[in-house]
Amino acid sequence: MNRTEQKQQAFQFIDSHRDEMVSLWQEVVNMEGGPHEKPGIDLVAGRFRQVLDEVGAAIRTVEFAQAGNMLIAELPGPIATPGVLFLGHMDTAIAAGAIARQPFTIRDGKAYGPGVLDMKGGIVAFLYAIKALRAAGYNARPIKVVLAGDEEVLHARSSAPDVFMTEAKGHAAAFNTETGFVDNGIVVGRKGVARFMLEIHGVAAHAGNDPENGRSAILEMAYKIIDVQNLTDKEKGISFNVGVMQGGKTSTAVPDYAKIDIDVRYKDPDDLEWILGKLQQVADKTHVDGTTGKATFMEGIKPMKTTDAVLQLFELVRKTSVENGFGEPYAKVVGGASDSAYSIIAGVPTVCSMGVKGGRNHSPEEFAVVDSLFERAKLLAACVLNLGGAV
Ligand SMILES: [Zn+2]
Repeated sequence: MNRTEQKQQAFQFIDSHRDEMVSLWQEVVNMEGGPHEKPGIDLVAGRFRQVLDEVGAAIRTVEFAQAGNMLIAELPGPIATPGVLFLGHMDTAIAAGAIARQPFTIRDGKAYGPGVLDMKGGIVAFLYAIKALRAAGYNARPIKVVLAGDEEVLHARSSAPDVFMTEAKGHAAAFNTETGFVDNGIVVGRKGVARFMLEIHGVAAHAGNDPENGRSAILEMAYKIIDVQNLTDKEKGISFNVGVMQGGKTSTAVPDYAKIDIDVRYKDPDDLEWILGKLQQVADKTHVDGTTGKATFMEGIKPMKTTDAVLQLFELVRKTSVENGFGEPYAKVVGGASDSAYSIIAGVPTVCSMGVKGGRNHSPEEFAVVDSLFERAKLLAACVLNLGGAV
C-alpha cells in the first residue's frame, strides 16, 4: 500500500470510530485527576494503557510516590529509523469535585468537562491516530508515547522532565497534543515558568510594650515586593509576579515571619540562573536591620525554544493541514509552558497544541469542539505519514 492509500485507510478508520472516540473521551474526562490527585491520575493512565495494549504496544510505567505516574508506550518500526513521539499529560488543572458539577457533556457541537480540552481530548486524538495508522499497515517509523501525570503542578514531586528528555532522544519529530486553538494556531514556542518562594525572618515583639525591639518581617517584605516586581525585563521577555503573600499572626505583635510566592515567566532556558541570582540579591539586600531573607526555587517548566527544526516541522504540519482541507494553521508563541520544552532540549523538533480545539481551559467553562477530535486525529496521522521514513 502506498502512502496515499494508507492515508485514505487511516482516515476511514477514524471516520468509522467516531462514537468509540467520543465514548473514550467521555470516560477519561469523567475520571477525576486534578492537581496532586495521584489515585485519579493513575486510573486515567490505566485506561490509556488498555488502549495502547490493544494496538500491541510495549508499555512501561514510571512510578512516583507523590505524583501521577508516567506512561511510556512503544511500537516498533524499522531498526535505525528515528521514531515519532507523541507527548502529553494525563492530569488536569481542575480540583476534585468538578465532575459532580460538570460531567462530560456535549451541547451544540461542543464538549464540556474538566480536562476535556487540556488535554484528555488531545490524548484520545493521538491514540486514534496511532490506531488508524496501525490499521492502515503503517510501519515506516517506530512510534513512542510519553505521558506525564503531573504537568499541571509543574512536576514538583517527580523527575518527569528528566524522563521526557531521556525518552525523547534520537526521535525524528514530536507532537504534543496540548490544548488546541480554534483559530488554528500551532504552538512553536512557549515561555518557561519558574516558581520561587522568598522568606523573611524578623524578630517578634509586643506592638504596644516594646515595638522598638521588634524587626518587622512584613515591613521588610513590603520593600522586597517592589524590588521583585521591578526585576521585570520586557526586552529580555522576563516577567516577575508576586502572586501570594503571607505573614504575621496577630495585629498586636511585630511579625517575625513573612513569605511570598513568585511566578517568573522567561523565554530562554539559559536565563534561569540569572533569575535566581537576581532574586537572591533581593533577598540579601536588607531594608529593615535585623531581618534576613532567603529565595528558594520551588519548581518550574523550562521554555519551549523556537528552533529552526521546530519551524521546519511546523511547515510540514501547515502543508499537511492545507492539503487535507483542515485550514491553514499559523505559528503561535504563547506564555504558558508545556513539556514540549524538554523534547526540544533533547534535540527533537516538536510542535505543540496539536490537540482538540477549544477555549477557557483551567476554568469551569472549559470546552472543546467535538469535530476537532476527528480532524486532529486525521491531521496527526497524515503528518506522521508525511514524515516519510522506510517504505
Ligand atoms: Zn495542558
